[in-house]
Amino acid sequence: MATTHHMTGLLVQTKLRVNRVTLDCATGTTVAIGAQRRHDASMTKWDQLNRQIVTCEKCPRLRKHCQRIAEEKRRAYLDWDYWGRPVPNFGDPRGKLLIVGLAPGAHGANRTGRMFTGDRSGDWLYRALDRAGFASQAESVSVDDGLALSGCSITAVCHCAPPDNKPTGDEVEHCRDWFQQTVDLVKPRVFLALGQLAWRAVIELARSREWYAGRLPKFGHGATVELIDQRSLVGCYHPSQQNTFTGRLTEKMLDDVLANTRDMLGE
Ligand code: SF4
Repeated sequence: MATTHHMTGLLVQTKLRVNRVTLDCATGTTVAIGAQRRHDASMTKWDQLNRQIVTCEKCPRLRKHCQRIAEEKRRAYLDWDYWGRPVPNFGDPRGKLLIVGLAPGAHGANRTGRMFTGDRSGDWLYRALDRAGFASQAESVSVDDGLALSGCSITAVCHCAPPDNKPTGDEVEHCRDWFQQTVDLVKPRVFLALGQLAWRAVIELARSREWYAGRLPKFGHGATVELIDQRSLVGCYHPSQQNTFTGRLTEKMLDDVLANTRDMLGE
């Protein structure tokens, strides 16, 4: 499937205004005018942040790697115009669930330009989000496939695809600024950390904000840490093929964790 990718395609959600309510076609919800203004404001900031992220050049090694992958391509995707840039946040910034991944897949998000889109990890994640009612559909193949999230958003510890899926400490440090700005904008009640590195990043951020003062808690699937002001961190095995092929992570395990986060959000 050949597609062309544009920043606006990632960032814009269509809205129809009807009298004093607005129908948000992306989430399928009606929003009163007062709430709509707040919604517009948060979407504007979200879009601004994403525009900054996609032009970031702080990590020369990663930028070079992503571009090289985009030029060489995988045989199955030769007719794709790879994204090859930092991958922006995706989802509903009004939602109080923030999913924190590791980094874009070389031929997944680095190809399609959307978090977890276009590879097996994303297939697993979006199917589960659809079952849990956070996604409008299970299918996630390209930025123009119609997928929208409601009540949650997705970010990553590192916005550029790293060699061997392993960013260096410095690269994670460089990307921390985007993570902090994302958290400040979304103000999540629940962080869902996909894997150990994301878990650690949330704890470090929580410490810096004085939301958490203890040692690094042990990461585990379903492990939960209470932060202050009714915030929580929940651990989840990353839906990488390494975990899903081996049965370490099953669809039921993913469903159970998402159901738990729903309960925590009081939804
Ligand atoms: S990994 Fe993050 S900080 Fe580094 S270049 Fe990409 S977006 Fe910028």
